[in-house]
Amino acid sequence: MFGADWDDIKSGKLTDVYFLRTKKILETKKINKKVVVEFIVKSFPPDYSWAVFSGLEECVEILKGIKGLNLWAVPEGTFFDVDQPVMVIEARYQDFGIYETALLGFLCHASGIATKAARCKLAARNKPVYSFGARRIYPTIAPMVERNAYLGGCDGVACVKSAEVLNIEPVGTIPHALILLIGDSAEATKAFDEVIEPKVKRIALIDTFGDEKFEAINVAQGLKGKLFGVRLDTPASRRGDFKKILQEVRWELDIRGYKDVKIIVSGGIDEYKISELSDYVDAFGVGTSISNAPVLDFAMDIVEIEGTPIAKRGKLSGRKRLVRCPQCLQREVIYHTHPLPDCQKCQVKMEDILEEIISDGNQIKQLPDINKSRQYVLNQIKTISES
Ligand SMILES: [Zn+2]
Repeated sequence: MFGADWDDIKSGKLTDVYFLRTKKILETKKINKKVVVEFIVKSFPPDYSWAVFSGLEECVEILKGIKGLNLWAVPEGTFFDVDQPVMVIEARYQDFGIYETALLGFLCHASGIATKAARCKLAARNKPVYSFGARRIYPTIAPMVERNAYLGGCDGVACVKSAEVLNIEPVGTIPHALILLIGDSAEATKAFDEVIEPKVKRIALIDTFGDEKFEAINVAQGLKGKLFGVRLDTPASRRGDFKKILQEVRWELDIRGYKDVKIIVSGGIDEYKISELSDYVDAFGVGTSISNAPVLDFAMDIVEIEGTPIAKRGKLSGRKRLVRCPQCLQREVIYHTHPLPDCQKCQVKMEDILEEIISDGNQIKQLPDINKSRQYVLNQIKTISES
């Protein structure tokens, strides 16, 4: 397998070579300046108006222990906008400059996935969204990808190793392979019911051989009240009006007394499809769109050298505060010496959201548990959906 390990990153090998050359030149010329750098995103992928911050845990692991280094960041799961510093480092440049490649990689990838998951969860309006996308990525990164899918609001993950890392039970239904091998959807569902432990929900796949409506009726009757749900993974070539198919399946189940049988859809699902189908669907299995979500283009910019504000063209110099209204969650960037403003809309004082995590190389704040961070994301989704 191709991959780098933690030692490669920590030893500075996982870097772009120009950072190593910069370090060598600065050392040779005996230039050793204290800088402040901030991590911001200049522009989001199309259609995005906010994003979810993630990837901090790995950054803290890389940076702690570096003497003289201070780190501030918003908590993982914080919603933010373009041009807002969500992580800030103060230290001698030589002591951390070679980590820029890795630090950006952690934030860009993790935040991209968490953001897409949160967009799906917002579109799903409280209905469960499961991450089914491990098969679309290089296998060794599945636990990282699905950790961020879960943080972003996904209710579960299909991949066993990812679930183990998250300390949750993996979720899954029945693959087409089992139905093809047994030769019939209802028989396959019955076999599943006979063999698999009772605590696993019975969810039948109903698009393998026949029409979804008739297969749904067959499996529901075959399992006599034990069927939790039906999954439609209908191929694109057969979808036609997918919403109509779902409406029909719901109707046929309902009039036969299977009102409790849930409808789950998967296959090519993203936040737009979720919005379109959510009236007829009880849960969504999302693959590629979350696991291969667009990364967020974070940049690490120097904004202060030896106490003097400085920045390249196109960036605002100086140390900043990122403040947020505790009620409507609106965010604003102010210069670090400026006082906390009031939220124009709510008329309440805004609050600082950058927290000090590392002081002089020592981690002074423990990061919250993943479930707490996920709940924090869900709370912000709720505020957005109510506004
Ligand atoms: Zn407000």
